Amino acid sequence: MSKKVRVRFAPSPTGPLHIGGVRTALFNYLFAKKHGGDFVLRIEDTDQNRYVEGAEAYIVEALNWCGISFDEGPHLNALSAGNKNEKFGPYRQSERKDLYKQYADELIANGNAYYAFDTAEQLDGHRKGHEAEGKTFIYNWHNREKGRLINSLVLTEAETKAKIEAGEDYVIRFKSPQDETLHLTDTIRGHMTIDTNVLDDKVLFKSDGMPTYHLANIVDDHLMEITHVIRGEEWLPSLALHQLLYDAFGWEVPEFAHLPLILKPTGKGKLSKRDGDKMGFPVFPLEYTAPDGTISKGYKEEGYFPEAVVNFLAFLGWNPGTEQEIFSLEELVADFDLARVNKAGARFDPDKTKWFNHHYMQQQLDLDLAEQFKAIRPELAEIDINYIALVVGLIKERATFVQDFWELSHFFFTAPTSYDEKASKKALKNETPALLQEVINIVTRTKEFTVQNLQAKIKGWITENDIGFGKVMMPLRLALVGALQGPDVFDIMFMIGKAETIKRIETLIK
Ligand code: GLU
Repeated sequence: MSKKVRVRFAPSPTGPLHIGGVRTALFNYLFAKKHGGDFVLRIEDTDQNRYVEGAEAYIVEALNWCGISFDEGPHLNALSAGNKNEKFGPYRQSERKDLYKQYADELIANGNAYYAFDTAEQLDGHRKGHEAEGKTFIYNWHNREKGRLINSLVLTEAETKAKIEAGEDYVIRFKSPQDETLHLTDTIRGHMTIDTNVLDDKVLFKSDGMPTYHLANIVDDHLMEITHVIRGEEWLPSLALHQLLYDAFGWEVPEFAHLPLILKPTGKGKLSKRDGDKMGFPVFPLEYTAPDGTISKGYKEEGYFPEAVVNFLAFLGWNPGTEQEIFSLEELVADFDLARVNKAGARFDPDKTKWFNHHYMQQQLDLDLAEQFKAIRPELAEIDINYIALVVGLIKERATFVQDFWELSHFFFTAPTSYDEKASKKALKNETPALLQEVINIVTRTKEFTVQNLQAKIKGWITENDIGFGKVMMPLRLALVGALQGPDVFDIMFMIGKAETIKRIETLIK
């Protein structure tokens, strides 16, 4: 690669960013950083009808949370972007509106595009007419010059001019070539050929002065000196037109890489925004409140760590070719390679995402987790953070999310208010009160209240008297926890302290 690598993430601000979009951004970021290149955010907002307020801010915030940063974009000021904004910006297509028309004109001038004046009703009529005959209406070489369609290919120059000057609505369409075989290359999919006769003459520009996605996208990739276009598979059908547009302008074609689809957990069909709600996992990085008030869950709010999200997204379509599964963002940058991206769809596995989260939780400092825990449980407001951190250290191995902590640890903070029924049946026998009374005696006599001492004394007494561990340890646990769950009993006793231990055992005896 001789030229400086420049890639872009080019979302349309039509709603919250789906995790598929985050994966596209991530792969672009990894590729740019791996090759010492630039990563550009470009907002493709030419379709004003689909524009959603707040979507751009959501995109920036979500990627920021993931640790995916841009070198250039509408959200960065000129200084932080190394003044590239002046050369390549603005980065919102709506702010670049005025520069697209000249390119549409250029294509008309060199015979690669034409004006079309067919109204929506007329086009609808053609579509319905074709449907009635079991055919599909395609606006292209086989009908564009037959006279039923109204465009500058059949009108005289003067007629065309007159219509435009009279303020008639028009579009500019690309004139797809007839009877050609187009050769396309994609880094992930290899070589492909397309018969140009199947292509329709896509609209590039509308009389409201707005370019369509296709024209704006190609012009901007060219002007922004994008070297590699890495995007989702759903854009593969546009590749032929994009290649034709580059050729029509005489511009160098960037390298293309279309990332595989992300499939539902069943492996059948594309993962959709609705699957998450149906199957109980988030499909958005951050919680999103739609203009109508409906809330969609976000990974962040559900308790996922950004490291876990990045790690599982990296494996949706890519693999390192080794057994290694845990990758930090830096390690991903070092190992990422487009040659190791599959073309087959990548099945989304919600359990694996939890597995990653569990892993990254174990890596976090107990004190940091304690802060997060404290922030979500009002019961912990008055409790010393160091105590909470010790508790977290004892239970985090069994947790996937910070939200799991309370369920696993409430007995470190408050005495049980009830006893699990099944556990009580199992643990409580006639001799239980006498045995627990003896435990109280031992605890009372234990001067140095440490885990080791408690363990030695209580276990020693059980063995010497041949009592059987279950007969003591089960009711003891029930007294402390309220159920037959939780970490080591001696750890719990030590943590809650002597007085509280005795109090809880007494309560159970009563
Ligand atoms: N605006 C398109 C999108 O929403 C960009 C596709 C591309 O990367 O070319 O994904």
